[in-house]
Amino acid sequence: MGSLTVSKPRLEGKVAIITGAASGIGEAAARLFVENGAFVVVADVQDELGTKVVASIGLEKACYKHCDVTDEKQVEELVAFAVERYGSLDIVYSNAGIMGPLPGILDLDLGFFKKTMSINACGGAAMIKHAGRVMVERKIRGSIVCTASIAAARGGVSPVAYTASKHALLGVVRSASRELGAHGIRVNSVSPFGVVTPMSLAVGGEVKIWDPKFIDMSRSGTGYLKGTYLQAKNVAEGALFLASDESSCVSGHDLVVDGGYTVSCDAFP
Ligand code: NAD
Repeated sequence: MGSLTVSKPRLEGKVAIITGAASGIGEAAARLFVENGAFVVVADVQDELGTKVVASIGLEKACYKHCDVTDEKQVEELVAFAVERYGSLDIVYSNAGIMGPLPGILDLDLGFFKKTMSINACGGAAMIKHAGRVMVERKIRGSIVCTASIAAARGGVSPVAYTASKHALLGVVRSASRELGAHGIRVNSVSPFGVVTPMSLAVGGEVKIWDPKFIDMSRSGTGYLKGTYLQAKNVAEGALFLASDESSCVSGHDLVVDGGYTVSCDAFP
């Protein structure tokens, strides 16, 4: 007779940092990681929201730390804070990001382009750099996950600056995966599309691809798995897989969580 195996929480006792965790996908990940046994440092620039998220999760397993990922010093301090507070750093989910308005190349605001690159691409690189340093120094076989986007691998589905920043981020993930792999550290990304969050709803312009009406239309028709309606938690589940030991042989991978949209891009209106 076989004995019943009781599985332990997937991130039991692990220490994680999640950036952009005051809202949307990052917030969902903070809840999910804690439910799965991790200690989580919720990092963001929205201090009031972040503090509320932590209060609703429970102070015994989570805490809030202000961190603007465009400021390398703050990123370094965030990493040191996690180690000081919980004694280790096993997981980093670098998720902070902005999208901004839709204008294309002919109306491109280069100031905004730089800002987008600075948060989405440089912020991710800074997180990987400082988390990687600590993991290497402490010989931690950690897991680093970044939120990219389906715009990281194609043009035309998102604003130019956003698309460029996510392409750059994917390049950082792939390079870092090779380099940090030599230390047993994994680096992957998760690429969502069409999740209704404050960021996606704030996008303006004429083509409102993030309009809930568009999303309603999509989920019932072409492009999406019938009956699916992508939510922040679905993306967080992808990040959880990449953060956990279940993906111990996966590195340099981009996990697309788009409900099947990418393979049927032709259906885009
Ligand atoms: P969101 O606006 O709900 O969350 C983004 C969070 O990042 C916010 O809490 C914001 O305060 C934080 N942030 C912004 N700038 C920051 C900075 N400089 N330092 C630290 N934190 C900062 O949006 P979301 O949809 O949950 O986005 C999360 C990630 O998912 C982003 O990287 C985004 O590009 C990516 N993404 C989202 C979708 C989608 O459909 N929603 C699709 C593809 C990729």
